[in-house]
Amino acid sequence: MVIYPDFYFDNVRDVKLEFLQKNNIKGLILDIDNTLIDFDRKFEDGTEQWVDDLKKAGVKFCIVSNTNKVDKVKYVAETLDIPYFYFSKKPFKKGFMKAKDEMGLKVENIAAIGDQIMTDVIGANRCKMFSILVKPIAEKDIFITRIKRPIENIIIKRYLKKKEKEKV
Ligand SMILES: [Mg+2]
Repeated sequence: MVIYPDFYFDNVRDVKLEFLQKNNIKGLILDIDNTLIDFDRKFEDGTEQWVDDLKKAGVKFCIVSNTNKVDKVKYVAETLDIPYFYFSKKPFKKGFMKAKDEMGLKVENIAAIGDQIMTDVIGANRCKMFSILVKPIAEKDIFITRIKRPIENIIIKRYLKKKEKEKV
């Protein structure tokens, strides 16, 4: 089981077109909670613009969320105008693969972006997609995420150490 992300960014908007082109990434699978919106369903400034700009450059998008709250997923998907799958049971592969088919791309041309290693990163890695971990938008989070976060922090620390060593 590969627990490390391929890449680690502060937020989704730091994932730029040049970076995608360099890695031959043509489609992005997006997590919702704490990746696109906070606990109050609020987008961070610039997120819609980020999606629009990448779309204009030909990048495809699909939402894959574990939430069962369909109204929330619909609100996000309609705001950004991208297709969605919800109640996806990440890290199981099914949701990721449905998104792959929806975008009509190969796994090696897809990156999945999310704030959780246990669901987003491991799921993407299992599918042989790129995994991009972002910092969670809000610290006030649902209970289950709070339980997982200490594990996340340990893995991120190890990941950054590993990257640092690779640079030398
Ligand atoms: Mg999340």
